[in-house]
Amino acid sequence: MYDVIVIGAGPAGMTAALYASRSNLSVLMIERGVPGGQMNNTAEIENYPGFDSIMGPDLSMKMYESVEKFGTENVYGMVLDIKDQGSYKEIICEDTTYQGKSVIIATGCVHRKLGVAGEEEYAGRGVSYCAVCDGAFFRNKHLMVIGGGDSAVEEAIYLTQFASKVTIVHRRDELRAQKIIQDRAFANEKIAFEWDTVLEEIIGNDMVVTGVQLKNVKTEAVKEVAADGVFIYVGLDPLTEPFRTSGITNEEGWIITDQEMRTSIPGVYAIGDVREKTLRQITTAVGEGGIAGQQVYNYLESMKEVEAGVSE
Ligand code: FAD
Ligand code: NAP
Repeated sequence: MYDVIVIGAGPAGMTAALYASRSNLSVLMIERGVPGGQMNNTAEIENYPGFDSIMGPDLSMKMYESVEKFGTENVYGMVLDIKDQGSYKEIICEDTTYQGKSVIIATGCVHRKLGVAGEEEYAGRGVSYCAVCDGAFFRNKHLMVIGGGDSAVEEAIYLTQFASKVTIVHRRDELRAQKIIQDRAFANEKIAFEWDTVLEEIIGNDMVVTGVQLKNVKTEAVKEVAADGVFIYVGLDPLTEPFRTSGITNEEGWIITDQEMRTSIPGVYAIGDVREKTLRQITTAVGEGGIAGQQVYNYLESMKEVEAGVSE
């Protein structure tokens, strides 16, 4: 029986584990992939205090080293379900069930799919959701980036170091991305824009993507444009499949907490991108990790008092 089980080893989960294990609690952190979460898919991070600029995988490694120092136990595993047994929780993975007196959910979210023709067919053959992973395959090629948020615009800029041209396709005539990121894109000679435009279809041959079909939503004009790759950044979906039936999510699946990161189930906390909130950043994930790591300590102390009162 662990004092705390942390699900997910992104910046939120790693910070919570650090705080809880530094308070001498026994902590298990379960991660289905490589520790670091979305930071591993991010090229350059320049809004994390203390670093002018740092590569995402490097920050992941530094955070992981900090967590290890205080004795958190790390295991590889995919959490499939949580069962609330009152004074403890069961965390069900594929082969093993773990028991924890408290749980911190830090499972983050994933890139949303567009659902257009050709997207699934050409995934990994020209369609990508990760510029850091796949950008280098597209040297001197023409790329389409779909979306107008921070991810789309920032990753489009990143892709210009490989591609000959990057076209950002956005459904409105105004970007959602932060002003500083927008300004960099507008100043980049390799970046072009297709405003008020949606991607209707990804076209290819037997092997790879060869182009896209675009539609202007104002004029309804449809055209085909030659392209070698399509990078899709149209938002995020929460990774909360295992927790949907527990009543802690909203209709879209984001987990609802109070400002102390408590969900509606006593002893269950949620932090980072998986929460219903407006700003999804490494700094906010880390801050919430600190709050939850301290809150579980307070929760476990209060449980001890309740148990002592019962046995008196
Ligand atoms: P995540 O980083 O998503 O980590 C969640 C972890 O949980 C993952 O490792 C996942 O494998 C694991 N997990 C999920 N489900 C399970 C399960 N069932 N069982 C076990 N493990 C599970 N933010 C910035 O501040 N600066 C930036 O420059 C920046 N650039 C970005 C660029 C891109 C392309 C993207 C997509 C995001 C960027 N962000 C940036 C946002 C930032 O990466 C996230 O806000 C942050 O990583 C959220 O941390 P998290 O720990 O909540 O979730
Ligand atoms: P996002 O902010 O939700 O932006 C999604 C973009 O895709 C929007 O421009 C949206 O258009 C567009 N879109 C959504 N559905 C679409 C559809 N069906 N067809 C066409 N376009 C569609 O998502 P994100 O850019 O991935 O960012 C997610 C979070 O991570 C944000 O909180 C962001 O701040 C953070 N992040 C931060 C950084 C950084 O700080 N440097 C970098 C990356 C991400 P509309 O604008 O019309 O809605």
